[in-house]
Order: sequence, then C-alpha cells, then structure tokens
Amino acid sequence: MIKLVSLFSGSSGNCIFLSDGETRILLDAGLSGKRIEASLSAVGEHPSDLRAILVTHEHSDHTMGIGVLARRYKVPIYASGGTWEAMGTFPGKLAPGQQCRFVPGERFHIGGMEIEPFPIPHDAAEPVGYSFHMQGRKITVATDLGHMNRALLRNLEGSDILLLESNHDIGMLKMGRYPWPLKQRILGDHGHLCNDMAGKVVAHLVANGARCVLLGHLSHENNFPELAWQTAANALAEKNLIPGEGFHLEVARRDQTSSIVWVDGERIWCEPVPFAGLAPEQLTLPGLQQMPGFSGAAKLHVADLMGTDETDDWLTIRVAEKA
Ligand SMILES: [Zn+2]
Ligand SMILES: [Zn+2]
Repeated sequence: MIKLVSLFSGSSGNCIFLSDGETRILLDAGLSGKRIEASLSAVGEHPSDLRAILVTHEHSDHTMGIGVLARRYKVPIYASGGTWEAMGTFPGKLAPGQQCRFVPGERFHIGGMEIEPFPIPHDAAEPVGYSFHMQGRKITVATDLGHMNRALLRNLEGSDILLLESNHDIGMLKMGRYPWPLKQRILGDHGHLCNDMAGKVVAHLVANGARCVLLGHLSHENNFPELAWQTAANALAEKNLIPGEGFHLEVARRDQTSSIVWVDGERIWCEPVPFAGLAPEQLTLPGLQQMPGFSGAAKLHVADLMGTDETDDWLTIRVAEKA
C-alpha cells in the first residue's frame, strides 16, 4: 500500500513522507530534526525506518534538518550534483556512502520505487521536482517553480497524485509589504508559482486523470489556504470538475500534517490526521480546548516541550470527544 503525507509545506519548511509499504523516504527535510521526528511519529512512522532523504534544492526551507537526520539515523541523502556543490559543508560530516548524486532527467531506484528527478525553473543551483513510479502509479511533487513550461507540464502529466506549488496570490503580493526586489524575485521566471497558474495546471491534470491534488508551498505573507483552494476550485469549475466528485483537492498546511493519502490497487483515499504535526507551542491545553469535537491522540517529543536536549522520551496526549 502506498502512503504519502505532507508533514510540512510552505516557505517556512518543507517535508514529505512517502512509502510503498516497504521502502520509506523523506522528500526534503526543511525543519529541525525534532519537529520532523514528532510529525513522523504522529503518522505512525519512525525516522530509523527511512531508506533515503531526497532533496529538491539547497534552500534552507528544504534542507535545514537533513544533516541531523542523516547522522542520527544513518540515512543517505540524494541530491543533484549542483545541489551538493551549493550545499557545500552545510549538511555537516557525512559518511561517504551517505552522499548520493543523481543526474536530473535520469531515473534511479530506491527499493521498489523508481524515481525520476526532473529540472525545475528556480533560483537555485540545480533544482529538481520528483516523479515516483510504483505499483503502477505516478506520484509527483513539484514546488519552487518560477513558471510553467511545456517540458515541466509533461513531467506532471499522468500523475495520479500530485503536490503542486500554489505559492502566492499575485494581487496580495503586489499590494503587500515585501520590498520591490523580493517581489520581483518571487514574480520572476525563477521564483514561485502563483495561485492562478497552479489552478490552471491542476484543472488540466485532473481533467486528464489526477485523483488527488495537494496545493503546497504557500506563502505566509501573500496567500492563505482558502484563497489557494478556491482559486484552483474556480479553474476546475470551468471544466465542470468539482472537488470531492472523483478527485480530492486539499491545501498542504505550513505547520500541520496534511491528510494521509493512501493507494491500494485501484483505490485512492485520504484520511485526515486531526491535530498531528502541530508545533509544540500549539499543543497547550487551551489549544486543545479550542478544537471542539476533537478526539484522538498526539505524540509529543518531551525534549521539544521542555526545550531541552536531555531526554528522548515521548509523551502521548489523548483527548476524548465531548458529549
Ligand atoms: Zn527555493
Ligand atoms: Zn522553497
């Protein structure tokens, strides 16, 4: 069974978990090792089971935790040659076998996963998106896209499951408080993909068979989840496509785990993870009380709660639903 979860998505950190039932990998690890460990635990996974960390590019919102996780759990890191050069000594000391290079455009295998890294237009050394081919399915993750072009669209086409960048609303960005050079960078050919273009691409891909779409890498400043979702829903409506009717559309959240996407043979379905992956400061008692009707369990790294490195214990909080 295939399992995909966006643990974190956005300009403040990106990390996706993917498993085919045997091989487990992370795609980017742009937060602290502890936050990623806690999020993995919340979806029933443990970093010691990871076979690889795949990196899209060297920006810190994609790489912050890679060195810590690689050393702590002896996981190899995969990146393009250009990304390795640009990261330099950043990941820290790694064993030689932990530095795996690939060439964008050339497929490689990890366990039963066939992985196809493809070039993306972004202001990094040699950035890539990834398509994963497994069990007759295609799963694609493409964020940090300066623009859409034919070659890129061909890489996205045929995906059953897709995580696509929907970074900003152009109006919000232009009217917002970012300095002009930064606005130019984001709007430029090697910056980030806007909601409108993401919506058009999503509509095209759903019309051609995509069954589950997560919109990701939202800007904190120039977007909000409802706006990104509605922009895509509007583009889909133009093709008479309605979320929930044959396909799933969801926004991958900044500091919260997305639904778990499951694939079993012909079936693809999404299971919400209530309350998982929230930052420890959000897991206070008042925070729990603010979520009426919530019931479930959250597993917390005690070291995170205490702000210390001295313990490796985990704490499980259970919340019963109010009658
Ligand atoms: Zn980037
Ligand atoms: Zn990024």
